[in-house]
Amino acid sequence: MPIYADVIVNISASDLDRSFQYRIPEELRESIRLGSRVDIPFNRRSISGFVVGLSDEPAIEEDKILPLTGLSKKSAAVEDRLMALAAWMRERYGCTMNQALMTVLPVKKASKRGKAKVEGPDLSDISPEAAPTLNEAQTAAVQAVLAERKGANRPGLLFGVTGSGKTEVYMAVIEQLLAEKKQVILLIPEIALTWQNLKRFYARFGDRIGVINSRQSAGEKYETVEKAKKGQIDLVIGPRSALFTPMPRLGLIVIDEEHEESYRSELSPRYHSVEVAEKLCELSGASLLLGSATPSLESFYKAQNGRYQLLRLPARAVPESRLPAVRVVDLREEMKAGNKSVFSRLLREKIEERLEKREQIMLFLNRRGYAGFVSCRSCGKALKCPHCDVGLTYHRDGFLRCHYCGFSVRFPDRCPSCGSPYVAAFGTGTQKVESIVRKEFPEARVLRMDADTTKGKEGHSRILSAFAHQGADILVGTQMIVKGHDFPRVSLVGILAADLSLYSSDYRAAEQTFELLTQASGRAGRGALAGEVVIQTYSPEHYAVQTAAAQDYEAFYAEELPRRELLHYPPAGAMLAVGVSGTEEAENEAFAAGLAERIRRAFEPLGAVLIGPTAPFRSKVQDVYRQVMFVKHPDRTLLLKIQELTRETGGVRIQTDIF
Ligand code: ADP
Ligand code: ZN
Ligand code: ZN
Repeated sequence: MPIYADVIVNISASDLDRSFQYRIPEELRESIRLGSRVDIPFNRRSISGFVVGLSDEPAIEEDKILPLTGLSKKSAAVEDRLMALAAWMRERYGCTMNQALMTVLPVKKASKRGKAKVEGPDLSDISPEAAPTLNEAQTAAVQAVLAERKGANRPGLLFGVTGSGKTEVYMAVIEQLLAEKKQVILLIPEIALTWQNLKRFYARFGDRIGVINSRQSAGEKYETVEKAKKGQIDLVIGPRSALFTPMPRLGLIVIDEEHEESYRSELSPRYHSVEVAEKLCELSGASLLLGSATPSLESFYKAQNGRYQLLRLPARAVPESRLPAVRVVDLREEMKAGNKSVFSRLLREKIEERLEKREQIMLFLNRRGYAGFVSCRSCGKALKCPHCDVGLTYHRDGFLRCHYCGFSVRFPDRCPSCGSPYVAAFGTGTQKVESIVRKEFPEARVLRMDADTTKGKEGHSRILSAFAHQGADILVGTQMIVKGHDFPRVSLVGILAADLSLYSSDYRAAEQTFELLTQASGRAGRGALAGEVVIQTYSPEHYAVQTAAAQDYEAFYAEELPRRELLHYPPAGAMLAVGVSGTEEAENEAFAAGLAERIRRAFEPLGAVLIGPTAPFRSKVQDVYRQVMFVKHPDRTLLLKIQELTRETGGVRIQTDIF
């Protein structure tokens, strides 16, 4: 039972280190928790603060520590909620209370006087256009969400192809909530946070909107946060961090493109926005609405089980805009016909056709999860781990390794399936593709969009707007180009190698591939022009490619779920990833091995399955060595106990992630 509590009196991340220690009276020791609001004597007054730390040891001389007076009866609803959320995140993601608070609490910083010029709404070019009359499916979805609010208030999953009118549904629901004097948070992926996309919201909701993005200064962000807290803003739009905007009258959180990887934080706490939003809604009595054309397997699984309410939009909203025609090209056949170019004969023909008609083309190189997977250029088979069903990865020492179990095998001279000598690690980059395009289509104007060309502050919008204004015929890019951009003149999308993500060393490889292919295909034919898509692949028979070509999410789900179930991968079970890192290689390995042994001994009898430890793809980064292990069990609470065990460290750093 802790005896002392660290209390902060100011709710802002910048004041976290200004905590004060108080003694907890005997009778309160059972009831005070992290995040509790307590009354304390402070400068001879009684004020309230929040408990952010608990300990058995006094930090200063014992007799200088005052007792706290009691659990506070006062409540400032938003702050209490964010505190409770932080305490929950600490439990769920196994981080420290401080890390959780740093994530959840606003950083206090006044913005400079004389207002910096922010790229922002030039409201003059907005025609407040009226909302279209919703179609039957949209109306049903809106009504279902509003009805659910009055009942069990389960989260809703709006499942509809790109262009099916999901955004119109969000807006209709938001409009209703605002009319009820509620506040709303809308999350969209950072990369889709473009003026083009925001315009519709400004046109509909005017100046009651606050936008948060990562390019803003802390001061600009804080200003938005303060306005939201005072109720001067009703709708906040932003990437995952916008989730923590303190909204006293929060009634709804909408998460667009809910499957997006960017909703998972890569910093500790490694939280997932959908889970956090669900918790925040529960704490606030708010509703949660998720939307996607390709929901994450987790979300669709919950919708199938009735944990979420499933809302469907089966067709594109504008009748004349139809889904594009998709053709799959087998690259093995190209190889047989002597064509070793990155363009198949079909794709080359279609590109020439488009250039002639002055229509635009997007060429997409799928580099997600690309980490040196190895495949046969003749038969297309990727070299996979016999135990884990994920791709093996090429390491410089000449071995192929599995990142889950550590299985390794020497790089083969010949393909184990067909004997061909053309076995290679896949390695075409966007830059190379760009130069090939310039050489093969000298008359075309080409733009490239990838991590390198978008470094500057306005990198993205510069390239996208140049392309949108017909400043180029061909846009070459990575997954960046597939997210929610609308280019009406694009009538051809070429996917150069669908396989790059298919065999990545991640159990979600097929899902990510399906998602990327579907989203990329969705870029073609958004306007009046008919759209065509060419998917080039060594694995035309793979279900992720087949179902993406058919734009059939449910067919994909039906193939994928049993595979997850068979191998106990999420959502059919829970998985804990444990990363151990340290500067001494031997010590680090020994620690990982020792930890693995302790987990085995304590939890294998309870049904947990431990894989590893093994060296991950980047086993040494900046002189820090890494080891990873994975624990699978159907019950997440057991994994949390294991996570607890991993907290006792000695000289090494441990990072855990629960899927
Ligand atoms: P999504 O968010 O699913 O991609 P949007 O809401 O952006 O779809 O809608 C796609 C296009 O269809 C937009 O141009 C939108 O204005 C139009 N649209 C949506 N709903 C309707 C409707 N009921 N009637 C006419 N046009 C619609
Ligand atoms: Zn082969
Ligand atoms: Zn393996």
